[in-house]
Amino acid sequence: MKKFDVLIIGSGMGGLVCANILSREGYRVCMVEKNKQLGGCLQIFVRNKVIFDSGVHYLGGLDKGQNLYQIFKWLGLMDKLELERMDVGFDRVLLEGDDKIYEISQGYESFIKNLTRDFPEEGNAIRKYCNTIREICDYFPMYRLQTETGGKEKLEAMGISARIFIDQLTQNKKLRAVLAGNNMLYAGAGEQTPLYVHALIVNSYMESAWRCVNGGSGITNCLAANIRANGSLILRKREASQLIVEDGLVNHAILKDGTRITAKYFVSNTNPVKTFRMTETSLIRPVTRKRLENMRNTVSSFIINIVFKPGCFPYVKHNYYWLRPGSEWNMEAYDQEEWPLGYAIYMAPPARSSEYADGMTIFAYMRYEEVLPWASSFNTVAYQHHRGPEYDEFKRMKAEKLLGKVQEKFPGIRNCIKTYYTSTPLSYRDYIGNDDGNLYGTIKDYRDPLAALLAPKTKVPNLFLTGQSLNLHGILGTAISGLITAAALMGRNDFIEKIRNA
Ligand SMILES: Cc1cc2nc3c(=O)[nH]c(=O)nc-3n(C[C@H](O)[C@H](O)[C@H](O)COP(=O)(O)OP(=O)(O)OC[C@H]3O[C@@H](n4cnc5c(N)ncnc54)[C@H](O)[C@@H]3O)c2cc1C
Repeated sequence: MKKFDVLIIGSGMGGLVCANILSREGYRVCMVEKNKQLGGCLQIFVRNKVIFDSGVHYLGGLDKGQNLYQIFKWLGLMDKLELERMDVGFDRVLLEGDDKIYEISQGYESFIKNLTRDFPEEGNAIRKYCNTIREICDYFPMYRLQTETGGKEKLEAMGISARIFIDQLTQNKKLRAVLAGNNMLYAGAGEQTPLYVHALIVNSYMESAWRCVNGGSGITNCLAANIRANGSLILRKREASQLIVEDGLVNHAILKDGTRITAKYFVSNTNPVKTFRMTETSLIRPVTRKRLENMRNTVSSFIINIVFKPGCFPYVKHNYYWLRPGSEWNMEAYDQEEWPLGYAIYMAPPARSSEYADGMTIFAYMRYEEVLPWASSFNTVAYQHHRGPEYDEFKRMKAEKLLGKVQEKFPGIRNCIKTYYTSTPLSYRDYIGNDDGNLYGTIKDYRDPLAALLAPKTKVPNLFLTGQSLNLHGILGTAISGLITAAALMGRNDFIEKIRNA
């Protein structure tokens, strides 16, 4: 039986950051990852020589002194990553029945200037929007890399609805749709999404917006190299299946292949529900298990990854979000006829800095129930299994429908397509290891904000959680989640000041 200071289960962004800190602080860490490729949603794949990202299309907060910049700098990433700054109008919102293109811009002054140009009567509402977003971010100290826990303003902010806030700002339906236009970034749902989730996510990109050249796996490679350089171990294609509790503490993990790994501490970067399912102990009360099992997850996705013919489709340094005004907070409640109610378009920098794109990712919501007929199948690169011809036909029909919708705004697109590949909720379920291929972990709910909050500490004193269900999703959110978990495990957070001043 192998023995370590810390066993980390899963190599997503939260796990990688946590392992970086702990191994740097002298803990001997072992990280086990069930997939062949490390990184969870940071994984990339190559089709027809084009690199596609599975879950990192753009990053915010990477300008000097901004929050993700400080974290990345401290982790040694800023010297290693090749980044491309996006256009000032980094997100462009397209509305059904409207030919105008609305810009969501980097830099608050540009944001106000560009939107006021489109909505000249709405200057006050737009300025109020910006002030409130920044104010809300200030209530979340860790977002500013401060170690306080946050006061009553934070608690109050957690109870504000994003949709109600925007609806009360303006009666202009188009402006409402534009302000919520990129809400696929956080699976915004009118009935649940708190304003703070909207604020922390959009503020990060409004501070500065970037694309990774050659994909987000550059982040994984650098973080994994640091862990190894610190004398710790990473095991790929090794799935944890049980955490054995003895005398009130997790004693060891049993992997699917039968290996047992003993450690003083255990950190799970997998879905919290799954973590508790693999931990049999009365320390986790039935009521806690039930609460977790009943927590709702964010919706899943259907994704088309297009390989373009060379020199055909122009490359642009911005994303597109298309939606139907009025349905911006309700896009996952589609019926089959009207699907999709919204889509997002992302491009990665071309391999040989060309004015034409190599590929494009189109992303729309898809509920897990749509793929239930194939739920018993499992398919990843490491364990390949064809889900069958009916599944292929289902994906083809969905892709053609989504492409038809995209074609209305981008009429030349079909002529430029060399080939395309698709993914469904099952792809994310199998690669990430959750139950339903959800996009961003558990839903945060303004109506009962504390019920959806998960702490890094569990009732088993040496078992900790990290990752997107904990704090906030996204690369920034999960990086902060890694910091919080490392601080909880070590019982000190002095390293956060070092990160702030890196
Ligand atoms: C389609 C999509 C687009 C996105 N776009 C962006 C974007 O543009 N910008 C951005 O900032 N964020 C984006 N995100 C969100 C971001 O990628 C995620 O929030 C973040 O990467 C999640 O990190 P995590 O720490 O929760 O780990 P995860 O990525 O959830 O990884 C968990 C890891 O644990 C492993 N694992 C699970 N169970 C076990 C087990 N039993 N044993 C061993 N290993 C196990 C999994 O294989 C996986 O590697 C996107 C997400 C998706 C799905």
